[in-house]
Amino acid sequence: MSSLRYLALQELAAEEKKISHYNGKKITAMFNSNVFTGRVMREYLSDEAYKSLMSSIKSGAKIERKMADQVAAGMKAWAEERGVTHFTHWFQPLTGTTAEKHDSFFTIKGDGTAIELFDGDALIQQEPDASSFPNGGIRATFEARGYTAWDPSSPAFIMESGHGKTICIPTIFIAYNGESLDHKAPLLKSISALDKAAVDVCNYFDKNVTKVTATLGWEQEYFVIDETLANARPDLVMCGRTLIGHAPAKGQQLEDHYFGSIPDRVYAFMQDFEQESYKLGIPLRTRHNEVAPGQFECAPIFEEVNIAVDHNSLLMDVMTKVAKRHKLKVLLHEKPFAGVNGSGKHNNWSLATDTGVNLLAPGKTPRTNLMFLTFFVNAIKAVHDHADLMRASIASANNDHRLGANEAPPAIISVYIGKYLTEVLDEIEERVKGKFSEQDEVILKLDIHKQIPELLMDNTDRNRTSPFAFTGNKFEFRAVGSTANCGLPMMVLNTIMAESLKKFKVEVDALIEKGEKKEIAIMHVLRDYIAQSKKIRFEGDNYSEAWAEEAKRRGLSNFKTTPEALDAYASESSKNVFFNNGIFSKRELEARHEIMLEEYVKKVQIEARILGYIATNHILPAAINYQNVLINNVKGLKEVGLPETSYKAQLNLVTIVSGHIQNINDAVEAMIAERKKANNETDMHKRSKMYCDNIKTKFDTIRYHVDKLELIVDDKLWPLPKYRELLYLR
Ligand code: ADP
Ligand code: MG
Repeated sequence: MSSLRYLALQELAAEEKKISHYNGKKITAMFNSNVFTGRVMREYLSDEAYKSLMSSIKSGAKIERKMADQVAAGMKAWAEERGVTHFTHWFQPLTGTTAEKHDSFFTIKGDGTAIELFDGDALIQQEPDASSFPNGGIRATFEARGYTAWDPSSPAFIMESGHGKTICIPTIFIAYNGESLDHKAPLLKSISALDKAAVDVCNYFDKNVTKVTATLGWEQEYFVIDETLANARPDLVMCGRTLIGHAPAKGQQLEDHYFGSIPDRVYAFMQDFEQESYKLGIPLRTRHNEVAPGQFECAPIFEEVNIAVDHNSLLMDVMTKVAKRHKLKVLLHEKPFAGVNGSGKHNNWSLATDTGVNLLAPGKTPRTNLMFLTFFVNAIKAVHDHADLMRASIASANNDHRLGANEAPPAIISVYIGKYLTEVLDEIEERVKGKFSEQDEVILKLDIHKQIPELLMDNTDRNRTSPFAFTGNKFEFRAVGSTANCGLPMMVLNTIMAESLKKFKVEVDALIEKGEKKEIAIMHVLRDYIAQSKKIRFEGDNYSEAWAEEAKRRGLSNFKTTPEALDAYASESSKNVFFNNGIFSKRELEARHEIMLEEYVKKVQIEARILGYIATNHILPAAINYQNVLINNVKGLKEVGLPETSYKAQLNLVTIVSGHIQNINDAVEAMIAERKKANNETDMHKRSKMYCDNIKTKFDTIRYHVDKLELIVDDKLWPLPKYRELLYLR
């Protein structure tokens, strides 16, 4: 018997355990060594170029061509000293991965001399063949001109791959007419919209604030399995998740994996990818086992959101590459194994001023606490007003398997703030009403500052089931999927926050104009916001059935599948919030909606094909082989003259196997027929619904019968690595 599964198991048994290449260096000694940081810039750029670059980073203004030449020259000199031969514009198209197109510095001049060249033009703009990236019809192939344009606010870095080294320049990706085709361009727009709106509101409290940045600290969950075993499964290779497989006898019920000791082979892999990450300036801090067998997590120190998003994309790429060196496979999929907890990517989000204040951390005086409350309440209001957009920002075919599966927040967006802050908000709502003139004293009596500080950093009553939880000095968006580009949910969060703050300022200013005192005016608008956004707050168990019912009574949405969740992009309120803040044009928004629907269809389509293939070409032949074994056995027993009672069990098994074979065959045929129907539907919205309602639903039937067969068929004949092997052997 030499199925791929057996060969893989043999290879795994003989596997020499890889050791880490980590050389015991201090992290500080390698940190940022492959990054063109501010310090390096000082060394390699003229004063003039350095200053101009820094000011364009701060203001977002365009950098002059002459300066760009100087920056390019400095970058090239630094990179060449480190053995770099190529450069690439590095970007994040809507495919969900990162893209690079490498060019060498090498070029030939008019007179035939070979030189190494990298000038301002090459730094600022490139033209990759963009027709093959998703564009939702914005750019038909005949006018396939897309540009990548330098984002000076995220530093260039050197990517090492074997002995090759390439300098990567973070860029945005846009169509010839400036319409965005990636995740970064809208993110940058949302960052500046939020900056402006937040500074305006901050200035009520502190005139010294001139810049507000959003901060992001992500936590990345992932699975690690043996690469050879993974390669023996077409579903893992092609879809990143298992489409079939019976649950192992031992799952996560013993809860012995969480914070348990990390297996040696995985530990070596972690050390290596961490080392690579440090060189790239990714400030990883935490590593530990996660709940499921074979599942792990890492998290960095938080950073400015644009850089944090880049670093997360980079990390996913680095992990995947380094795992190969260890003959391991990293599964970033949201739900690689049915019945086993899936993976998410918590996005911890906050706001920081250039005066060093975290706007979501309570202060020590009444004034700073009013500032905290202002941003805190506005965040809740923003999520309340645009909950559907938040849901849409985390929608993907992968994440559908995880949301609401009793391991991750449900598809219902709500906000958790904890007992104490609930009391504070309730008190404000209760006491700040009535006539303005009588309010001063009441408000001063609230003494909010005395109640808040002591309690917040104490996270003991943290609610792990909430999709959006306040955790002392930041909000944690927990429903984000593990493969997601954080840029999308962060863009939505920044944008809706900017919108809320802008409206807030208009309302407060109107009261001030009427002659109210500033603090009183602020308190009153906050009170209104608290009352208006109350239904989005939920402190209980988000996993419970009771919450789904309660949420329905409250009128909160519960979009369980991606096609319906994505409808939010077409709603009036979403359009307004994106247009008002200059994030998308109408065409860009429509294109994005289309791209996401198409992405969904493609994902399910590929899975449907692979599932049909595995069932027909791997499982049915194995089942038939086993049936033949049984039949021959029965024939033999009969031949030697034994009575029917001696082969009753075998005959019974033959019948059961036959039943499953028939059912699998029927379901695969039905699935193919539905696929044909769906593919003839030209409206992408309708097609995605068909894939969701008529095709994906067949997966369960096929899987049910395949998994039953897995329990019956002779282990030697079973062609694909089983869950217990994938999850426990390494
Ligand atoms: P847990 O697993 O309990 O949620 P961790 O300590 O693993 O907590 O993760 C906390 C995350 O929050 C880290 O990624 C950290 O960088 C991030 N974080 C802390 N403070 C901020 C902040 N002000 N803004 C954004 N992220 C933050
Ligand atoms: Mg967390």
